[in-house]
Amino acid sequence: MGGGNGQKAKMAREKNLEKSKGSKGSQLESNKKAMNIQCKICMQTFMCTTSEVKCREHAEAKHPKSDVTACFPHLKK
Ligand SMILES: [Zn+2]
Repeated sequence: MGGGNGQKAKMAREKNLEKSKGSKGSQLESNKKAMNIQCKICMQTFMCTTSEVKCREHAEAKHPKSDVTACFPHLKK
């Protein structure tokens, strides 16, 4: 446990950080965060919750000549 002042200052800083984030279109930021899977070939974005099966479906449907890991390198094991 440190001094109460340090704790307060830290909280104030975090509050300010939150404020500055909010002013810059937080909607866009959260959208970007949610769509963090991207097909490297057609640049289509997917929700981060998109399952590997769905990614493979996309790759097979849209890019049958390419390996699924060419579209989604994160599936590489
Ligand atoms: Zn694609």
